[in-house]
Amino acid sequence: MSLDISKLLRENIRNLKPYSSARDEFSGEAAVFLDANENPFNAPWNRYPDPHQRILKARVGEIKNIASQNIFLGNGSDEPIDLLFRAFCEPGKDNVVSINPTYGMYRVAADTNNIVVNLVSLNADFELEAEAVMAAVTPDTKIIFLCSPNNPTGNALDSHEMLKIIEGFEGLVVVDEAYIDFCPEKSLLPELDKYPNLVILQTFSKAWGMAGLRLGMAFASELIIDVLSRIKYPYNLNIMTQQKGLELLANDQLKLEWVALILKERGKMISNLNKYPFVVKVYPSDANFILVQMHDPRGIYNYLVEEQIIVRDRSSIALCEGCLRISVGSPEENATLIEAFDQLI
Ligand SMILES: *Cc1c(COP(=O)(O)O)cnc(C)c1O
Repeated sequence: MSLDISKLLRENIRNLKPYSSARDEFSGEAAVFLDANENPFNAPWNRYPDPHQRILKARVGEIKNIASQNIFLGNGSDEPIDLLFRAFCEPGKDNVVSINPTYGMYRVAADTNNIVVNLVSLNADFELEAEAVMAAVTPDTKIIFLCSPNNPTGNALDSHEMLKIIEGFEGLVVVDEAYIDFCPEKSLLPELDKYPNLVILQTFSKAWGMAGLRLGMAFASELIIDVLSRIKYPYNLNIMTQQKGLELLANDQLKLEWVALILKERGKMISNLNKYPFVVKVYPSDANFILVQMHDPRGIYNYLVEEQIIVRDRSSIALCEGCLRISVGSPEENATLIEAFDQLI
């Protein structure tokens, strides 16, 4: 693919000279650091964190089998989503295309940056149709957002349809793989080399159980990663996130065990839910949540709140009419939910 990504950049970003921190100008070992106006007391919190997150990135690269120069680490995946808008979309002029329904942050980031979102509805089975997405592209479309497995629908999108879009679109295609660990479909990560316009988002918030640390990943061609790194806050990942993240990433076995248990619980939950007369439809799930259509979603939601169980009401979202989204919890939490439902029959 011979697409010049730098031509897609906003002009001010192309010309931007990034902030150069003290740790950029000197990053080696030394006995005495008197260059960053830090307080000499209160170690280790007194020191600024590594702005390039070298050690953490090396570990992420090892886990994902990808070079550090193709990795951006952010304050959740929300950070690279916002940075992509700021780098590539001219406010008030450019637009992006997004599937509908999908994750709400693309819209919020678009609105924040004064960018119009052209929505393309999935079909009734929540499937992606590349042709419909391509038909929504205009000359000012800079980014197409896909999410697979998709939130809140739970299904993985067809990878052939996604690749048609990545190959056919002369702008960026973001594929959000926040739930990829729960999904039998393969990640598009091995395709990254072939497509300079592909950005893959993943996160440590779901399968890895680190939502509180705020640690998200973007994988892309070096040019895109360079741009995101130049415009981010210099110290976007604090010391605690970098250190604790590294510590928790030492044990990938634990993540595999969690995923296996969650998948087993998901299967149990789906067959349980199918038994209730107030359930209209349990959608198949490739993620760690289940979308369930109910006869009286608001009533069920309120009943569960009384029982101190909180699920997500998605019933006002297009194509999700009547639906609640239920995360798969621990075996105990799931049993509590099922007991609450049992009391309704
Ligand atoms: C949960 C989720 C994320 C993760 O966001 P973080 O900011 O990394 O916690 C990203 N994308 C989708 C679709 C999600 O559902």
